[in-house]
Amino acid sequence: MSSQIRAILTGHTRGLGAALAEALLAQGADVLAISRKRNDELAARHPGRLHEIELDLADLPKLTEWLSGETLSGFVSGAARVLLVNNAGMLAPVGSLADQEPAAVARAVSVNVAAPLMLAAAVVQASAQATDTRIVHVSSGAARNAYPGWSIYCATKAALDHHARAVALDGNRALRICSVAPGVVDTDMQAEIRSTGLDRFPMRERFDALKRDGQLATPEESARKVADYLLSEAFGDTPTADVRDLN
Ligand code: NAP
Repeated sequence: MSSQIRAILTGHTRGLGAALAEALLAQGADVLAISRKRNDELAARHPGRLHEIELDLADLPKLTEWLSGETLSGFVSGAARVLLVNNAGMLAPVGSLADQEPAAVARAVSVNVAAPLMLAAAVVQASAQATDTRIVHVSSGAARNAYPGWSIYCATKAALDHHARAVALDGNRALRICSVAPGVVDTDMQAEIRSTGLDRFPMRERFDALKRDGQLATPEESARKVADYLLSEAFGDTPTADVRDLN
């Protein structure tokens, strides 16, 4: 691998993650990307620089097995700068407790919390030689404000924020971490929000209006802000951030 920057990114097949992959590749990083599917179009445009792993991040035994293998350590070997972007996330289950299937709760907690925290530990352990390791959790405004119907999503995103706050106190000078809210972004997840019944998500009309009024950020705009911040000197000065507050 030629690049001195190696980035591990989850959820690169569409939405914000596809744009983040593009932004990181444009910054010269080699990217190891984990999703359930592949992004053939992106891989074709960056031959040899996008390494794709097909893995369901809700399948924690599979993730544990993959992390115990050689792929991650081989990817970061020799790199001075290692980045982890925990972007993959899911909204469901939406609705009150009476509507939440236990299996759906487990799936969301696995994808939104367990997998990012497992990857954070594994990436730091694999990059002991790196002088600059940076972790960004893709958080949400829902981590910081409670929304009816989104108890699982709010709780899981708040867990990422609090993980970053606590890790920042560990005093590892070679590691920077920040949990970053990306704004409201025009992706499949927003389409999923707009297709939710008002009975399950009473605040839906606010998101209908954002789309109707052209107020959604494009994935490219949001990804550029996240990537620029991630690579900036200021990254990690605070353990949580919101791209809407960044220049
Ligand atoms: P999206 O359009 O639904 O895309 C989600 C990405 O995550 C896809 O690439 C998907 O790939 C991957 N993914 C989902 N479940 C997975 C699983 N079980 N295993 C592996 N990969 C999985 O979502 P998005 O809107 O781009 O959101 C990206 C991040 O931003 C999420 O963490 C979300 O919570 C956060 N966010 C989004 C918004 C917004 O307005 N869109 C606002 C705040 C925060 P595969 O389907 O190929 O697996």
